[in-house]
Amino acid sequence: MSDIRTYWTWSLEDFHRESKRDPDILEDFIQILFKRYETLEPLIGAYLHFDAEATLRELRHQPLKNEAPLRGIPIAIKDNICVKDFPTTCASKILEGFRAPYDATAVTRLRMAGSVYFGKTNLDEFAMGSSTENSAFKVTRNPWDRERVPGGSSGGSAAAVAAGMTFWALGSDTGGSVRQPAALCGVVGMKPTYGRVSRYGLVAFASSLDVIGVLTRRVWDNALILHIIAGLDERDQTSADIPVFDLAAIRSWDKKTRWRIGVPREYFAEGLDPATHEVIKTVLDRLASEGCELIELELPHTEYAIATYYVICTAEASSNLARYDGVRYGLRARSPHFREMYARTRARGFGDEVKRRIMLGTFALSAGYYDAYYLTGLKVRRLIAGDFTRAFQQVDMILGPTSPSTAWKLGEKLDDPLKMYLSDVYTVPASLAGLPALSVPVGRDAHGLPVGLQIIGPHFSEDRLYQFAMMIESLFPFYREIPDGVAEWTS
Ligand code: GLN
Repeated sequence: MSDIRTYWTWSLEDFHRESKRDPDILEDFIQILFKRYETLEPLIGAYLHFDAEATLRELRHQPLKNEAPLRGIPIAIKDNICVKDFPTTCASKILEGFRAPYDATAVTRLRMAGSVYFGKTNLDEFAMGSSTENSAFKVTRNPWDRERVPGGSSGGSAAAVAAGMTFWALGSDTGGSVRQPAALCGVVGMKPTYGRVSRYGLVAFASSLDVIGVLTRRVWDNALILHIIAGLDERDQTSADIPVFDLAAIRSWDKKTRWRIGVPREYFAEGLDPATHEVIKTVLDRLASEGCELIELELPHTEYAIATYYVICTAEASSNLARYDGVRYGLRARSPHFREMYARTRARGFGDEVKRRIMLGTFALSAGYYDAYYLTGLKVRRLIAGDFTRAFQQVDMILGPTSPSTAWKLGEKLDDPLKMYLSDVYTVPASLAGLPALSVPVGRDAHGLPVGLQIIGPHFSEDRLYQFAMMIESLFPFYREIPDGVAEWTS
């Protein structure tokens, strides 16, 4: 068996090419991942379900001559995405014991491309949170500093990729849940345009915002995986009937393109941690010297984004989560009376944050308050989207920090939901507007913690975001770094 360092900087193409030459490479790599799971899982807590047997079975099932782009590639799946016959808990007690009866469309497409099951990753319960501390089952730790959060809600996926417990994972992003943990863990995280990837088999949190996204260490790998899972799906009426971007075009774009880059004043205002600001500024300066045109602009409704997001997402969540009634799925509390059974099941099954959101959302939707909160929220959402439409008449993309700070200490914001919500300030605007946005790691702060750069583009401009992110990756090759805490377990 070789060492994880052999593979650390490999892209999917390297795996594909080398394993064609020597088919044992994939099994060797996966055996290393198994060993890493055994040693690192107790320290990192990235996975909720792991089944080495199933992975090997699927791997050995792969035809050797198979040309599929993901042949034998182990991809971890956030545990709110259905994988047939495996548990899908959403990190909630209410779904304990539930096994999905079907594959999500994204998962079906990964399988068709040859990938193998590689566990379900931890998350904030029903993807509600920014630190993965709302999981009912375990705490996930940041591989760069295990006293700190990995971000959330796709914290398990981000931590697993950062720690080299897999190189590729799916997550979901409603208001930042792919981008923010990617930033805090130093990996690449893409939230595609709303509708780009089918939501069929993604457990609903806020249906008008939810998107499946991809977490990887390499930008190219991210593009390749998104390319596979994206596209129209008759099982999701909101999936877009727009051709998926051309992978080859991402590589062959003119490197001399003079990008017009929007730098919104609001993303560099009060509340941004100075160390994060510093790193992002270095990147912007470098881009200017590389010939990019930096254009300062305003997104004036940004200040309403958090309030708007939390009204809309809680309203939708309160409706989506009504289905957990003790009858259809998972947990059922005992009681001879239906109403009592329902109330007890939900009281016992849901955690505090989920209950808080169901109450907030029910309130925002109730007669007498609907106009004041929910309807107002929808109107402000239009204004926020309008800010972006105007900006994109001037610029090709918008840059800023993904998160106002690097990873914070475990427990630091847990008792103060508002503080936790405020950490989403740079990610929710793109979600409300349905825009694609990607976080790439660009450096570290004084504590050695990763800083993510967020790149936001117009609807369906994923190819452009990837082109640009590849340039960033070549200027700041962060993917080569191995977090100290997990480097010693290399064999
Ligand atoms: N942190 C945000 C929230 O708590 C976003 C979560 C997400 O994108 N799923 O709602």
